[in-house]
Amino acid sequence: MTPTFANYINGEWVERPETFDNRNPANTEEVVGRFVKGTAQDIADAASAASAALPAWSTMSGPARGNILYKTADILDRKFEQVAAEMTREEGKTLPEAKGEVRRSINIFRYFAGEGSRMPGMLVPSERDRVHMFALRKPIGVVGLVTPWNFPSAIPAWKLAPALICGNTVVVKPASAAPLSAWRIVEALHEAGAPKGVVNFVAGSGGTLGQALVDAKPLKAISFTGSCEIGNWLHNEASKRRLRIQLEMGGKNPTIVLADADFNSAVENVVNAAMFSTGQKCTATSRAIVENGIYDRFVAAVVERTKKLKVGDGMQAGIDIGPCVDQDQIETVLKYVEIGRKEVGEPKCGGRRLTEGSLGKGYFVEPTVFADVQESHTIAQEEIFGPVLAIMRAKDFEDAMRIANNIPFGLSSSIQTTNLSRTFEYIYRAEAGLLTVNLPSAGVEYQLPFGGTKESSFGPKEQGAAALEFYSDYKTIYLKY
Ligand code: NAP
Repeated sequence: MTPTFANYINGEWVERPETFDNRNPANTEEVVGRFVKGTAQDIADAASAASAALPAWSTMSGPARGNILYKTADILDRKFEQVAAEMTREEGKTLPEAKGEVRRSINIFRYFAGEGSRMPGMLVPSERDRVHMFALRKPIGVVGLVTPWNFPSAIPAWKLAPALICGNTVVVKPASAAPLSAWRIVEALHEAGAPKGVVNFVAGSGGTLGQALVDAKPLKAISFTGSCEIGNWLHNEASKRRLRIQLEMGGKNPTIVLADADFNSAVENVVNAAMFSTGQKCTATSRAIVENGIYDRFVAAVVERTKKLKVGDGMQAGIDIGPCVDQDQIETVLKYVEIGRKEVGEPKCGGRRLTEGSLGKGYFVEPTVFADVQESHTIAQEEIFGPVLAIMRAKDFEDAMRIANNIPFGLSSSIQTTNLSRTFEYIYRAEAGLLTVNLPSAGVEYQLPFGGTKESSFGPKEQGAAALEFYSDYKTIYLKY
C-alpha cells in the first residue's frame, strides 16, 4: 500500500483530505508516497507554533541544541540505506549519488551540531578605561525555508541545521517533486527530541504556500533555493515586509579548458560536471569553453565519453545517468535541444528522448553535446538544467575568460590547466561564487561558504561558518565595571 506522509505542525503529524502523489521519475507508474497537500492556514499555524516555541528554544544552551542535531544525524545514519533508496526513487539520481547526498546531510548535521559549542561572538578592547565591549550572537526568530527538488536532502539539511543551531525556529516548505527526503529529516528531528513547534513541515503547492509564508506575521526571514523567477518574486514580496532574505538560484556555469590542461582528466571533469545527476545540479557545467589548439580533439573525446554513459533507472547497478525529475523538466530539456538544433545545428551526440523498453515509463533523455556554440545562441545564455553541454571555442586564455564572465549568472565556474599564473589570474577574475581548478565544477563540500554572485544569488552565503551570518544577528554590549 502506498504510504501517506502528513505535515508536521507544532509537534503533531497533521492530516488533510487532499493529497498529491510523489512519483518515481524512472517509472511513473510507481507512487513513492502520497503527501498531504498543505494549505495557507497550515503555514499560518506552523508559523504561530514556531513563534510560540521560540523563547524556550532560543534560550536553550547551544550545546543542548547541538545534542539534538547530533541525535538527528545518528538517526539518519541508522536509516542511511532506506533514505538513500527513497531519494533515488523520488528524484531519479543514481543510488551512489543519493548515498553521497545522504552522507553529506548527516555530516552537515554533525558539523552544525558542533557550532552549538562554539557560536563565536566578538570581544574587543575599549578605548575607555574599565569598559568591557563584546557582541553576542542571537537568533533572528521564525525562519521560512523553501527548497528545490534537485538536492532534496542536502539543501534542507544545510538550511535546517544552521537555522536551528543559532536558536531560530523554522517552517520548511519542500519541493513538490521530491518532498520525502526532507520529510525524513524532519522525522529524524522529531525522533531526536526537537521540542514541539521548533521544526514545522508543510508540503504542497509553491504558489499557495509561498504567498502564505510571505504573509505569515511571525516570520522574520526566508532562505530560498530554486529558480531565478521564483526567487526574484519572493525577493520583491519579502522586501515589502523587510524580511531578511537569502536566495540561491540558477546558473549557466562555464568550464574553461586550456591547451596545457591534463587532457584526459579535463574530458572526464567536463563530462562528469555536465551530465552526472542528469545535469540537474545548480553547479553543473553547461558551457565548456575550449582553447583553439585542442578544440577539435576535445570535442571528439567528450562526445566519445558521453556516448558511453549508461542511462536508466538509478536503482540499477552500472547506471550513470537517471531520468529528468518530471514531465516539465524533460519538456524544458527537449525544448532547448530543439532550439539548439535550429540555432547551432545537429548535436554531436544525443538529442532525443529515450523510450525503448522500460525507459518509456520514465523521463529519460540522451546526454547531449552541441559543438561550435556561439555566445549569442540561446543554449549558451539560458539555464537548461538537464544533460546538455554547449562546447564553445576560445582563441586563447583572455578570450576564454571573457566568454566565461559574459553572462548574467555567477554561481560556479571551473578551469582545467596546469599553468599556475593563469590559475591565479582565473581565481581573481572569474565572476562566480564557487570556483574549481582541475576538478568538476560541481561537487562541493559543506565546510566552506556556498553561494554565487551576480543574478545567481542574493544575501549572505550558505554552509560553513558563513551560514551563521544569515541565521543570527549581533547584540552589542558596552559594560562599565
Ligand atoms: P523552483 O521552481 O523555483 O522551486 C523551488 C521551490 O520554490 C519549490 O519548493 C517550489 O514549490 C517553491 N515555490 C514555487 N512557487 C513559489 C512561490 N510563489 N513562492 C515561494 N515558493 C515557491 O525551482 P526548482 O525547479 O525546484 O529547482 C531548480 C532550480 O533551482 C534551478 O534554477 C537551479 O539552478 C536552482 N538551484 C539553485 C541552487 C543554488 O544553490 N544556487 C541549488 C539547487 C537548485 P513547488 O515545488 O511546490 O513548486
